[in-house]
Amino acid sequence: MSATKTFGTFFLPGPTEVREEILTAMLQPMIPHRGPEFEALFERLQEGLRPLFKTERPVYISSSSATGMMEAAIRCAPSGRILCLVNGAFSERFAHIASMCGRDVDRYDVAWGQVHAIPQLEERLAMRKYSAVTVVHSETSTGALNDVHAVSDCAHRHGLVCLIDSVSGLGGAELRFDEWNLDYVLTGSQKALALPPGLSFGVASTSFIDRANATQGRGVYFDLVELDAYARRNQTPSTPALSLFYALEAQLKSIAAEGLEARWARHKGMAARTQEWLIKISDETGKKLNNIAPLGSQSPTVSAIRLPTDLQAERFTAAVAKRGIVLGNGYGKLKSSTFRIGHMGDHTLESLERCLAACSSVLHS
Ligand SMILES: *Cc1c(COP(=O)(O)O)cnc(C)c1O
Repeated sequence: MSATKTFGTFFLPGPTEVREEILTAMLQPMIPHRGPEFEALFERLQEGLRPLFKTERPVYISSSSATGMMEAAIRCAPSGRILCLVNGAFSERFAHIASMCGRDVDRYDVAWGQVHAIPQLEERLAMRKYSAVTVVHSETSTGALNDVHAVSDCAHRHGLVCLIDSVSGLGGAELRFDEWNLDYVLTGSQKALALPPGLSFGVASTSFIDRANATQGRGVYFDLVELDAYARRNQTPSTPALSLFYALEAQLKSIAAEGLEARWARHKGMAARTQEWLIKISDETGKKLNNIAPLGSQSPTVSAIRLPTDLQAERFTAAVAKRGIVLGNGYGKLKSSTFRIGHMGDHTLESLERCLAACSSVLHS
């Protein structure tokens, strides 16, 4: 094994840095996945996962990347036309999945970096009949944070279900499944939960599952009705990625020890510090850097930062990498004009400080 580096150098907005203790947890031996030992493990995981989603419902654990649980959302949504709120690359992916699953889809686009305003959404929903709306909580490509509580309430006023992708949100940004009366929320292991990639999680309301029962063409692997039935007896329909389950168990213990509210506050603090640094470094260097998401809709977990036009993102992130810090390049059409800091998972103000110092050093040079 290679010597482990000190924690706090890897700021990719997914996969995020995983602590050694969590990686080590994966070395435990295999157990039969049909049997009491696995069921006990699954139950312990439920005890840690439910508080994360703030729900009493079972949390589905899929041995797939998060895109799988996006597809599950679409396959199990009530039949009818779907309105997809698009404000970046991942919300665009949700729309793409919906059309590739054979759904009639309307896109509601706003500029990348922006979020969807509720009055305009009301108007869109009044114009045409839909069965569901898709929305991304924290748009990892732009660092914009949608108010999913308000979007969901708006969808409910028009009789639709709201399908929420909180892949880089959950665990870092406030979300309350039961209290906000949400229908379906999905997340992945490798973003704000700081686990290795390979697991995704979903929660569905009872009424969502009841309605899904009547939906045709749900397929097998991403059928939430089946995942729900198995989860209620502490099982998974097919062979679970056991080693990742061990990592999850270790990480859920750490999350519980920190406390979810404290975790949300830590992420807010890191986003605020990044914003403060942006203003200061722009002042000091005369180079104009800005967060592409407006104040008030900035994600606590990821910042997408626009660079001056004469500084290409790939060159900037390569120079920062020489100083030992890994950042994300821009995503999709923002690839060369922005870079991204994934200040999420187990990062702290202290590790973020190292990251910002490396960025400052490149900008001053
Ligand atoms: C990373 C990400 C996804 C896709 O997750 P995969 O695990 O790569 O399938 C979807 N939505 C958002 C918002 C993401 O950040």
